[in-house]
Amino acid sequence: MDSEILERINRGIILRTGAYLTNDHFVLPTGRHAQEFVEKALATTEPAFTEGLGDVIAKHFAEEPVDLILTTGYGASLLGHCVARAHPLRPRFIYANKQRDGSGVSQVVLPREFRQYFVGNPKVLIVEDIVTTGETVKGLIKLVKALGGTVVGIGTLWRRIRKVSFKFPLFTLVDREFPTYTPKNCPMCRRGMPINREFLSAPVPQKPCRVKTRAS
Ligand SMILES: [Zn+2]
Repeated sequence: MDSEILERINRGIILRTGAYLTNDHFVLPTGRHAQEFVEKALATTEPAFTEGLGDVIAKHFAEEPVDLILTTGYGASLLGHCVARAHPLRPRFIYANKQRDGSGVSQVVLPREFRQYFVGNPKVLIVEDIVTTGETVKGLIKLVKALGGTVVGIGTLWRRIRKVSFKFPLFTLVDREFPTYTPKNCPMCRRGMPINREFLSAPVPQKPCRVKTRAS
């Protein structure tokens, strides 16, 4: 099937999860306006869709000698689990944790318990949900190299910025960089369309939930 048609089907699936928002009016963190937006947290909320998307990524890398699926983050880990389940070699699924070092730089760290799986140069498939800057994937690549593994590829749901690339084969279900506008040139502003503040505005502080506990 034509890759453009396939991509449209995949985009349709992500649209049905509620993560892909279209025909709306958003203000991105850069200040530019857009008609489309991807809300990462919603992409893996429908298990049947997550499994289906994981199947497609696993199928793409089915001929590759994959020993480990490596992810970081909740959404990517749900997807990574599904990829591992669907890959014919039944690779083991592991994750790294994102944290900031002393100088505030973000990095990924492998839990000590998973280090045992890096004995003997394992072949690693990195799975990520949404790729924007590519920094997280680059952190995972660095981690695999440092531990003596080999990256066989990277599988993702959506690459948001096309110029982001890696030294290893990337397979993305959707490769769409949607158009953005300055407020002055924004067609939605011109039409007087209200701005959707639900997804990108600063979170409203919430009162912490009080849990009653019985006095011991
Ligand atoms: Zn606008």
